[in-house]
Parts: sequence; C-alpha cells; structure tokens
Amino acid sequence: MIDLRSDTVTRPVQGMLNAMLEAEVGDDVFAEDATVNAFQDKIAALFGMEAGLFVPSGTMSNQLGLAVLTEPGDEILIDEKGHVFNYETGAASFLSGIQISPVAGKSGKLSVDHIRHKVRGNYDWEPVTKVLCLENSTNKGGGVCYTKEELVALKAFADEQGLFVHLDGARIWNAMIATEIEPEFFGRVSDTISVCFSKGLGAPVGSMLLSTKERIAKARRYRKMWGGGMRQVGLLAAAADYAVEHHWSLLNQDHQRAKEFAATVSECAALSIDLESVETNIVIFDCLNEAAPSALEKLAAHDIQMVQFGPATIRATFHFQVGDEQLDKVKSVIKELFN
Ligand SMILES: *Cc1c(COP(=O)(O)O)cnc(C)c1O
Repeated sequence: MIDLRSDTVTRPVQGMLNAMLEAEVGDDVFAEDATVNAFQDKIAALFGMEAGLFVPSGTMSNQLGLAVLTEPGDEILIDEKGHVFNYETGAASFLSGIQISPVAGKSGKLSVDHIRHKVRGNYDWEPVTKVLCLENSTNKGGGVCYTKEELVALKAFADEQGLFVHLDGARIWNAMIATEIEPEFFGRVSDTISVCFSKGLGAPVGSMLLSTKERIAKARRYRKMWGGGMRQVGLLAAAADYAVEHHWSLLNQDHQRAKEFAATVSECAALSIDLESVETNIVIFDCLNEAAPSALEKLAAHDIQMVQFGPATIRATFHFQVGDEQLDKVKSVIKELFN
C-alpha cells in the first residue's frame, strides 16, 4: 500500500527507536525529565522564543496558545480553512470560551486586506477581537506558505490593533524548507507558536507550544488540567529530537516529489489542478468526471491511498516513507486511470 493520505502515517525508523531507548528520563510533571527539558529549551531557542512546552498533539498546543492569549468571550480571527476552525472539534469554544470569526482568505492565508474590517470596535456588546491565528504552511489551503513580507505586514497590523498573533506551525518545518525563512523570524512575528513533530518530520507523537516564560508557565497548568501532564515522556521527546535532527532536511525531497506528482496530475484530462498552489508536500486536485470517493476507490484498487477533501476534491500528501519508486508507480497509475 502506498499511503498518501497524510504525512502523519510514517513509522518510527530504527535510529529513532534507538534514540528513545537511550533517552534519559524523569517525571515531567515534576519538570524532571532531562530529555524533555533540553528539547524544550532547544526548540524555543531555535525560534527565538523564551520557553517551550512539549505536548501530545498539535490540537493541544494550538488550544493552549489560544487559552493563554484570551479570556472567555473573546474572539479570534482565522482563515475559514484554518485547522483551529475546522479540525479541532470546536475546542476553542469548549476549552477557552472564545468564539471564532472565520475569514475568507486565499488558500488558507490571510492578508491585512482580508482582516482590516474584521476587528471589532470597543463596544460593551461586541466580543473583544484578541488573536489573529495564522497557519503556515496551510493544510486545507494546500500547503502554501506565507512570505516574510506578508507576515511582517500582518504583525504590524496586529500590533496596531492590539491583537496577539498565534502561529499554527504544524508544518512550519515544511514552510522553512520551502521559503528558506530562518526560524527566529517566526518568533519575531508571533506571540505563540505551535509546532508539530509528528507530521512530515515523522515522530510518533508530539508537538510544542513556544512563547514567553510567563505564558508557558500558564500553559503548563492548563496542560495538566486538560490531562496532558505526562511522566517519563523524554522517550517521546527523544523521538521528536531525532526527527528534527535527521528528517527536517528530507522535507525538500517530499516537496520535489509533490511537484512531480502534481505535474502528472496536470497532464491528465480527467483531473484538474492549480500547479502554482503546490509549494510544499501537499497536493490538492479535482476530479472532473466523477466524485472523489469513486476516484479514490479506483486508486485503492491499485494499492494507493489518498483522502477526500471535497465532493470531487482529493488530497495527496508526500512524506519521507514514500520514495521515488513509489512515486513512479503513483504517476503511472494516475495516468492510466485518469488520462
Ligand atoms: C495536523 C495539524 C494540527 C494538529 O493536529 P493534531 O492531530 O492534533 O496533532 C494543527 N494544525 C494543522 C495545520 C495541522 O495540519
């Protein structure tokens, strides 16, 4: 089976398992896990942030970020394709008592023009617009990335309006490879950042919230409250650290393979794709003559898995456990089925 459903389907490699076996661990609820402590400091420093908090999932790190930046009744602005709005089971309203204002942007990205008139006035009867939530790279938007200029403009607008910026960087590792923007830059344009180690980097578990020491201390309390305080979790931090050290640089190959795959899709008469949108490891395309489930069934009959992303829309996501041999097979099957 060639699994292109997501970049979360990778299995730990032997080197990663060895790193886990060798990890020095302690009780992280007591903040005594040396591997976790060192890893939190390392990733925080990488992004030019004061502190980090290792958590089980990207959903938890996003929600912790929003919890420490808001009060109940506040509102956050996010692109209507955003993960926090679509794929976190309504957690922001449940956990933080905040409401989400989804904004129509472009490919999951917002610009100052999109949000200029979305910030509320200072009236007793309106929610307080508190956070601008950005996603980089975008998931539902097809893996596109913000440029430096776009982020600088958004941060300037946020500062002017008194908004915090939360950056959902589940795939920031892909964005950094694709755009060659240095990690510290993202620390300068964000108040909180969530990064994931279990997407293309290939760790089995783990995300991290990055921010100031004060906010991270507050997030620690919420993490415990929400049941995310873990014990000898250096085992997982060791896997995540291995992923950053050994797999980050591999993302470039995923991006190249995604582009090659997208080029094949663009040559098929029964498919349509916007090639410009393929900036990283995600490829979203449309079926012209059939619904997505029927196309996915045909692919599955050839041992290829992708996911439905709309009535006639499909997403394929590349990761380091899909190599050139598998890519060649996928390309020839796509041509055979859809051309
Ligand atoms: C995967 C993802 C997350 C986090 O998801 P979890 O499954 O909770 O780890 C957050 N944001 C984006 C954009 C994602 O793609």
